[in-house]
Amino acid sequence: MRGEGGEELTAADFEGYYHGGPPRLELHKAGELYAVVRLALLPVFNGVRPLLICPRCGARRGVIVLHSSGIGCRGRECLNLTWRSTRQTSQERRQLRREYLEELLLDDGGDPRRPHRMRVKVYEALVDELFELEAWG
Ligand SMILES: [Zn+2]
Repeated sequence: MRGEGGEELTAADFEGYYHGGPPRLELHKAGELYAVVRLALLPVFNGVRPLLICPRCGARRGVIVLHSSGIGCRGRECLNLTWRSTRQTSQERRQLRREYLEELLLDDGGDPRRPHRMRVKVYEALVDELFELEAWG
């Protein structure tokens, strides 16, 4: 558990779901179906990168958060989660960098897109950096 509460879901939780059948994970709460999280496979130069589709806003994210206020991602348009003050300095720096990269690399729907004139290698490196920041939570 990192950041402001909530359990986190990443593509690693989909192990075994990649092949055969639709890549989706059903989450239950008190015996009831609570949410369905789908997996998107983003083609990158060395294969595919699994991303989770946020069930709340539809953005593709590295991390989905199961939070007391609901399920979603940390995006400003979504759960808009902030950070615990104890780890604020480095986390804030990471979050600012992440917001910058999200703005640069993701379109309005949260889908990755290479900015006009950005070289492919630069783009791939920045996408990798963004995913690593997202994995940090
Ligand atoms: Zn979201």
